[in-house]
Amino acid sequence: MQTADVLVIGGGITGSSTALGLMRKGAGKVVILDEQLKSQRLSRGNFGLTWFMCKGAGYPGYSLWCRKAAVAWPEYAEILEDASGYNIELDWTGGAVHAFGQEELDGFARSVETIREGCSSKGIDYPVEVLDRQQFAELMPKMTLGEDVAGGMYTKEQGHVNPLRLLGAVRSCFQKLGGVYHGADGAREIIPQSNGTVLVKTTTETYECRKLVIAAGHGSSRLTAALGEKLNIYPQRGQLMVSARCERKLDIPLLAVRQTQDGTYLLGLSTENTALDSGVTAEAMKSQAANAVRIFPELANLNWVRGWGAIRVMTPDGGPIYSKIPGHENISVLALHSGVSLAPLHTEVIAPWILGETTDNQVSEFSNGRFHA
Ligand SMILES: Cc1cc2nc3c(=O)[nH]c(=O)nc-3n(C[C@H](O)[C@H](O)[C@H](O)COP(=O)(O)OP(=O)(O)OC[C@H]3O[C@@H](n4cnc5c(N)ncnc54)[C@H](O)[C@@H]3O)c2cc1C
Repeated sequence: MQTADVLVIGGGITGSSTALGLMRKGAGKVVILDEQLKSQRLSRGNFGLTWFMCKGAGYPGYSLWCRKAAVAWPEYAEILEDASGYNIELDWTGGAVHAFGQEELDGFARSVETIREGCSSKGIDYPVEVLDRQQFAELMPKMTLGEDVAGGMYTKEQGHVNPLRLLGAVRSCFQKLGGVYHGADGAREIIPQSNGTVLVKTTTETYECRKLVIAAGHGSSRLTAALGEKLNIYPQRGQLMVSARCERKLDIPLLAVRQTQDGTYLLGLSTENTALDSGVTAEAMKSQAANAVRIFPELANLNWVRGWGAIRVMTPDGGPIYSKIPGHENISVLALHSGVSLAPLHTEVIAPWILGETTDNQVSEFSNGRFHA
């Protein structure tokens, strides 16, 4: 039998960034078990935005949480890069969302005001501006806007990273601190013990741990259900497209289009209800390509070389779930969208919360139980 002080099921960005925080807090022997399922490539297949803009309309607590994460990001990246030696390619150049037509732009102005009021009720700022077409064009002077773009919204306080390098850097820091990562090993059964420990049977081993963290993306529902807890998440597919490398011209990421440091353009704004099918379809690719060309007509001339699908973990109100399993205070579950944007908080706030040492009262707002009312 293997032992761990804390066992983390799931080595995507959520499990890994939390496990890093556990090591930093001196939680003892922390082990990540990661089955690395091909169908769950969320942490490798995402768009890499480190954003707060637009998040939490009608849910000020979530706006506050995302804003806190964005504020923490630049220092988080610096510490990760210093400790791991990885360049995670953070561009902290801001971020924007385009509007097609005046009606959509007017809608942006209203939604910015709504979120700003919510943020103000929580004592935080919401530094987002609504820009007309000319101001919007000035943000990206090397690109030509399509004629339908009326303007957009923009904040200078967010950015984008390379998600693969982020994941590599987080895992590297975790392992340098003595954390243990087991790839290709899946948890199959969780058996709470009367002495307060938990047994976890995997495909190859049995582990005994003092605390257990379930951060297995869509794999979490089955594990919590066996403990009597229905996890309130649902799948939503997104498809991404990648161009061949070209001259770097797009200075800031848009929600629909970004350009990486090595010059590839990425498109990724599709949302589909397809259960757990992570495949790709010509229809979704065509639709998001047409949308991107409407923003920047020159994208039609590029060589688009690859595409893939990944399944978002969504909750009914969009906010994350950080919950202790009722009756098992030593078993926590983390299930969420925006795991890249929220990574600093998983290291700095959620890890101490797992250990019962958090100083941030906000975490209790995000329990799975909020959906059971
Ligand atoms: C198209 C798209 C674009 C996105 N863009 C962004 C973005 O720009 N910014 C942002 O912040 N977020 C974005 N996201 C969301 C982000 O990708 C996710 O929030 C994040 O990757 C979730 O990470 P995770 O670790 O929770 O889950 P996952 O990455 O799914 O990791 C879970 C891991 O657990 C493993 N596992 C499952 N079951 C078991 C088991 N029984 N035992 C052991 N291991 C198991 C899986 O194999 C997997 O490796 C995007 C998502 C999509 C689909």
